[in-house]
Amino acid sequence: MRAFEATRRYFHTAAEHLDLSPQTREAMLMASREIRVQVSIERDDGSLATFVGFRVQHDNSRGPMKGGLRYHPEVNLDETRSLASLMTWKTAVVNLPYGGAKGGIGVDPRSLSTRELERLTRVFVDQIHDIVGPDTDIPAPDMGTDHRVMAWFRNQWEKYHGFNPAVITGKPVEEYGAKGREEATGRGVGTLTVKLTKRLGMKPEATSIAIQGFGNVGSHAAKFLSEAQFPVIAISDITGTYYRKEGLDIAAALHHKLQHPYGLLEGFKECDVLPTDALLTLPNVDILIPAALGGVITEKNAKKISAKAIIEAANGPVDPDADKILHDHGVTILPDILANAGGVTVSYFEWVQNRQHYRWTLDRVRQELDRTLSEAFEHVWQNAHEQDISLRTAAYMIGITRVRRATELAGLT
Ligand code: GLU
Repeated sequence: MRAFEATRRYFHTAAEHLDLSPQTREAMLMASREIRVQVSIERDDGSLATFVGFRVQHDNSRGPMKGGLRYHPEVNLDETRSLASLMTWKTAVVNLPYGGAKGGIGVDPRSLSTRELERLTRVFVDQIHDIVGPDTDIPAPDMGTDHRVMAWFRNQWEKYHGFNPAVITGKPVEEYGAKGREEATGRGVGTLTVKLTKRLGMKPEATSIAIQGFGNVGSHAAKFLSEAQFPVIAISDITGTYYRKEGLDIAAALHHKLQHPYGLLEGFKECDVLPTDALLTLPNVDILIPAALGGVITEKNAKKISAKAIIEAANGPVDPDADKILHDHGVTILPDILANAGGVTVSYFEWVQNRQHYRWTLDRVRQELDRTLSEAFEHVWQNAHEQDISLRTAAYMIGITRVRRATELAGLT
């Protein structure tokens, strides 16, 4: 299923419970602006390379639009459109004063040198600088981008518009970035996993975890959960699945990641090595955390999943057909728009600090993150149980209602 079709279906499932006309639903689903640009650069060897870049601005009724930039070969308009709309519901569920957007370039960043990556980013900024800004649309890191890309982006944007670090979040800490932004998405996933397992009556020591993807999000979630005494029995990346029934040494895996090119796990020892796609359907997994690409759990593999709960650290990892199968099997799913909202929450804290020319301590960032996510979790959990609906439908209903209300208050019907 295509990515936007999946988010569209989730939207409609929630909209069924709300009093929204078909016309209102279509208006809420459609992005307010979609930009497609050519990004051509000179490679280090003097040859020309051309890529396609996107920025989709979905909705700004609750504030400036917010969302990451993804550098990945599979980036296309459909996926960016889906991810942009997810950002609108995500910022609304955690009640940040933002709308939603997403962008990216269809490129494998590992195929470029650092200099080429910098040129690519600067050319992309040249193409979209006039539609982004601290009060309009604020990009951030996503898959394949990091604090270096954010620093280049800001530097290039400021050449046109002057000093204003609040134009982008996820910057290096010494260059107006926020302490705790890098760990934020994974930490949020961990915090919410602790909350959910408590509600489900599961004890940390007796709850095994499998995490698909050991990038920024997966690795920080693994660290948080292993420190919280959960046995993390499997982790994976493109080089394989690393499995140990009694629990992996996550500190050693994190160390291995730091020592190896692109942070890959290849060569990680003292565990079984299985094919990459084995992770999702391993037996004896209590909590499954997909923290890589979207669309990985489909009706093909849903029935083989042994986990009691799935925490969607990635955006859109479970498609709607699989969601139904899992729901019927009694699997609890914590949806992406809540589960991975820690990243954009600390992005908001970074933007606030930039605008106030003030710096928060790491403790303050963590405390406020915990408070924001806990409030959102309790709200979603309570609504789901009162109305006997899934956590996803409850989260979408909260998000959609807030966006709708903002539009109404602004005087548009
Ligand atoms: N890319 C992240 C997400 O999907 C973070 C977005 C942000 O910080 O604006 O939520």
